[in-house]
Amino acid sequence: MGDRDDRLIRPTERGLYCEQGGFYVDPWRPVDRAVVTHAHSDHATPGSQRYLCSEVGVEVLRPRVHNGAKIEGIAYGQTTCINGVEVSLHPAGHLLGSAQVRVEHAGRVEVVTGDYKTQPDKTCDPFEPIRCHRLITECTFGLPIYKWRPEAEIAEQINAWWLANQAAGRTSVVFAYALGKAQRVLSLVDRCLGHIVVHGSVKRFCEVYGAAGVDVPGVTTSTAESRKAVKGKGLVVAPPSVLGTAWLKKFSPASLAFASGWMAVRGNRRRRGVDRGFVLSDHVDWTGLLETIKATGCESVGATHGYTAVVARYLQEQGVEADEISTRYVGELDTDTETSTEPSTESSDSA
Ligand SMILES: [Zn+2]
Repeated sequence: MGDRDDRLIRPTERGLYCEQGGFYVDPWRPVDRAVVTHAHSDHATPGSQRYLCSEVGVEVLRPRVHNGAKIEGIAYGQTTCINGVEVSLHPAGHLLGSAQVRVEHAGRVEVVTGDYKTQPDKTCDPFEPIRCHRLITECTFGLPIYKWRPEAEIAEQINAWWLANQAAGRTSVVFAYALGKAQRVLSLVDRCLGHIVVHGSVKRFCEVYGAAGVDVPGVTTSTAESRKAVKGKGLVVAPPSVLGTAWLKKFSPASLAFASGWMAVRGNRRRRGVDRGFVLSDHVDWTGLLETIKATGCESVGATHGYTAVVARYLQEQGVEADEISTRYVGELDTDTETSTEPSTESSDSA
């Protein structure tokens, strides 16, 4: 334990690097060989020569790197060898095709989680904890205040809100990130309640999900006809970047909601300019994070992205070897504008 010389995955200025295998995991600059956990833009940087991702993730990744790059997909659990290092990908439960990266060399096993969640999600394969010596885990919501409610409860909230808006003659608009969250929202709504329209950026990924066999309703985009069908009674799913645009105004009068883990923090709903927040995250919560660390049996944890200091300190107090790994990942973001618009989660509004 604690022998840092035999580590397989190390942080570099281009991102996490496996020197023994000569490849990067989710590099933030173009490299020769990139192993990509999932297609969110902060993890899937374009310009690399070769990409390796999960088989089901290939078509999700392709539009994000769109440079004619060579993308190889391997089935979950299948092992491939890169310069003598065994690499396999395992479901991360974050979005369609998302994977954890397991690396094995000379008897040592390390796992990079990428973004992940342990809650069920009908739109992707469920997360599997992988036994390893060292786990590099994301910590987006790594604070004890983040504990997600069961998915069915959130679905009930969304459907009840939609019905109430119908009764009041308002269109229901849910803001959700175009890749992953939007499809998850669509998988939760009761499609019998009325017509559903999605933004073009959401439709693009709904088609990829549909082709992969995921049942995602509402692939109608905004047209004069579809707007007539939803106005005052239907549901619209769009990325948060449409707030304040002419595209959105055509659906008024509307009630606006945002689906995000950040909605668990008081004040974020107001800051996002919406009437309603649904606490729906595609990242692991505090309990899931600790359970995962335990389930992997790891002796060392690298905490990356999010509340790394809190998580590392907490683990150290529990007797687990832990360190922080700096990153450029921005977590839940608006994948249409490619900018992080997440509000600060500091306690400025908690007085
Ligand atoms: Zn992500």
